[in-house]
Amino acid sequence: RCPDESDEAVRATCEDASVCKRFAVSVGYWPDPYIQHFVRQAKERKAPEINRGYYARVQAVNLLLDAFLERTGCNCQVISLGAGLDTTFWRLKDKNRLPRKYFEVDFPTIVARKIHSIKSKPPLSKPIMDSHSGQSLLINSHSLDSCRYCIVGADLRNLPDLEEKLKKFNLETQLPTVLVAECVLVYMSPEQSASLIKWAACAFHTAMIINYEQVNMGDRFGQIMVENLQRRHCNLAGVETCQSLESQRGRLVSNGWENASALDMMKVYSSLPQDDVRRIEKLEFLDEKELLEQLLLHYCVSWATKDGQNLGLAEISF
Ligand code: SAM
Repeated sequence: RCPDESDEAVRATCEDASVCKRFAVSVGYWPDPYIQHFVRQAKERKAPEINRGYYARVQAVNLLLDAFLERTGCNCQVISLGAGLDTTFWRLKDKNRLPRKYFEVDFPTIVARKIHSIKSKPPLSKPIMDSHSGQSLLINSHSLDSCRYCIVGADLRNLPDLEEKLKKFNLETQLPTVLVAECVLVYMSPEQSASLIKWAACAFHTAMIINYEQVNMGDRFGQIMVENLQRRHCNLAGVETCQSLESQRGRLVSNGWENASALDMMKVYSSLPQDDVRRIEKLEFLDEKELLEQLLLHYCVSWATKDGQNLGLAEISF
């Protein structure tokens, strides 16, 4: 397939992720009053193991992100790479935990869709207006820039363009910055994701990167997952980096990051606050415990820090 078609299939993954999140939210796995404004309700129920997998994914990323916000006293920036229709900005606004500025980057067509939803739905636009002050807010079909929230249309494989656009919207390289990539890097070649990770390590001297994606793709279950994904999305260019926890960690260390860790989601699931885990385990009966275990063993979260300001970032963990 030609590259454009393959990018189109990658863009469709953001709809998939948010439809699954919305379904899990509707069952009660975690609260998110905003996701319903971005995507439709799923036509069919999602399997309980899928919902638990999304629960673990969302909790894991939130825990690491919230720990960074706490260490920096919110005097920091967040950059969500391949943010899709993610609703974290609104969650943080409700908790009174907004960073100095929250940036999102995705392909221009996804950004246009997100901006359209924001413009037409007051529950989405009001929190942005409420956190804005000063000059007029910039909003057109391909970018939105307010004091605390900014969405930029850019291709993460074109780093000079990405940097130029973020700086145009007042990215401050001196501020502690956390970059989040949730199911994004696997769609880029190993060279492209390595360059992005290295760019991030060089651009900021106090920073953290959080990456969630597939792991252990070399075994039988992993190969079936890859085949399934490839049937729907033409380009899983980064799958080689998803062979092991060590390759995930190694990619961070060899591209300028310190204190890198990588855990599979089975391990993360057992480290999440267990009261809440017990609560969600009562929501739906899970027949296929082994399937959930296999699924959790094939996703991981990796993270790394660079602590120029000695904020104790290396201690962030589960
Ligand atoms: N992070 C969101 C979440 O977890 O809900 C969305 C995940 S979705 C699986 C992957 C997202 O990455 C899509 O929105 C896609 O458009 C974006 N993406 C992938 N490659 C990209 C690239 N080269 N440049 C910009 N965005 C990209």
